[in-house]
Amino acid sequence: MTLRLRDTLTRAVLPVEPLEAGRVRMYSCGPTVYRYAHVGNLRTFLLADLIRRALLYHGIDVRHVQNITDVGHMRADDTGREVDPMLMAAGLEGRSSREIAEAYEAAFHADTALLNLLPAQEYPRATEHIPDMLALIEQLIGLGHAYLTPEGNVYYAVATFPGYGALSGNSLDELRAGHRGEVEPDKHDPADFALWKAAGEGRELRWPSPWGEGFPGWHIECSAMALRHLGPRFDIHTGGEDNVFPHHEDEIAQSAPIVGGPPARLWVHGAHLLMSGRKMSKSAGNFQRITELVEAGVDPLAFRYLCLTARYARKLNLSDASLAGAAGGLASLRAELAGLGTAPANGPWTPPPAVRADDSPALADRAHAPAAPLSRRGSDLHERFAAAIDDDLDTPIALRIARETLRAQLPEDERRWLVLDMDFVLGLDLDRAIPSAAPAEPGSSAFREALPEGAAELLAARTAARAKHDWPAADRLRDELRALGVEVVDLPDGTSEARALA
Ligand SMILES: [Zn+2]
Repeated sequence: MTLRLRDTLTRAVLPVEPLEAGRVRMYSCGPTVYRYAHVGNLRTFLLADLIRRALLYHGIDVRHVQNITDVGHMRADDTGREVDPMLMAAGLEGRSSREIAEAYEAAFHADTALLNLLPAQEYPRATEHIPDMLALIEQLIGLGHAYLTPEGNVYYAVATFPGYGALSGNSLDELRAGHRGEVEPDKHDPADFALWKAAGEGRELRWPSPWGEGFPGWHIECSAMALRHLGPRFDIHTGGEDNVFPHHEDEIAQSAPIVGGPPARLWVHGAHLLMSGRKMSKSAGNFQRITELVEAGVDPLAFRYLCLTARYARKLNLSDASLAGAAGGLASLRAELAGLGTAPANGPWTPPPAVRADDSPALADRAHAPAAPLSRRGSDLHERFAAAIDDDLDTPIALRIARETLRAQLPEDERRWLVLDMDFVLGLDLDRAIPSAAPAEPGSSAFREALPEGAAELLAARTAARAKHDWPAADRLRDELRALGVEVVDLPDGTSEARALA
């Protein structure tokens, strides 16, 4: 079997058949770096990580490109005036838009590392691809798909592209109706969208163009950067369900006339994360950022576990209860694995290699050819796990099989090997030592009691400090923990382990 994914464009679950043998090219819409990524954004980014791990599990290399949107796309402010959020943030925080973008980009990388997301090979920035965007816009004008207005704006004429609406299922008439009353007067058709906008007064981010000084529309950046970094046709495009329209609809309309069809073979979209009783906003939500969960004493991988309990195309509820349940589920998996004892350093049951971020020259097809001498029962568990992952990433079933494996009537070495092999895809660091003998939910009273008084809070604060790259604070907290008799060991993968001081 091979990995199958739900393609939004054809509305079918299709196999991933690499355009280039043994290698998949994948583009993911990345963060907009004028604010922090919230946990809902991270759920979307996790989808790409799971696709990548599932393909690596099959021995298929993945070239992953994720863009950084560092030129603010237009949003209407409270007065209905169009504003650039990057500039708004700049005004609010008294820093240049470049400084703001750099700070939020660094925070994005720290947040994704907390969730064990494999770094993409390329993170192209929109502001570094303006010439690519200008070239595409000129081509689209030349082909008759775009027009310049006297105001210095360039719009894409959606009526010139017969496939417009195929991705989102919108008809042009519905779209026109939806635009009534808020239309730029220089548009020929209310459904047309901007490729280039003339810069108004006071705009900091502006570039010269054949049509005067201005700035690009949001959608053209992804057409330009995917073409630049992955070529005209690639295998998979991911994003959140909110990207289907208009972002990806417009991306297809822009790219298709130039590359001869939709640039990606599969368009895969993740469903939203919902907050029970809470709006996911900075003002209303405590749990907007992953670092806020960490500060509250929650293992960030408990959030990853929570995401795995639902299929990516289904809405998922984030609440204190769902998160506590996930933390408990993760802690019990780790405790059961730890209960199987230490892995042998050599022989057939040496732990299988962990997933690596860098390209591997010779990847094994672990999904079909496990490297260990599995029994019949062990092979069955392994095959069922691979089949669940291949079935459009059925992670809830995959988690259940991991739990079943831990309790199976099999030698401890075989169970441990199987579960560590599964963790290659799950990415939950299941072999991470837990800081207490008794399995307990992080944040629970049992968890706190197993550590000296105050240690859990210091550990959480230190994890948060490390995520912010606040090394002096992290070192100070390490000393405070040492004074309580707790030694902290930082592991090469960026996580930490707490041990009783000998
Ligand atoms: Zn995009």
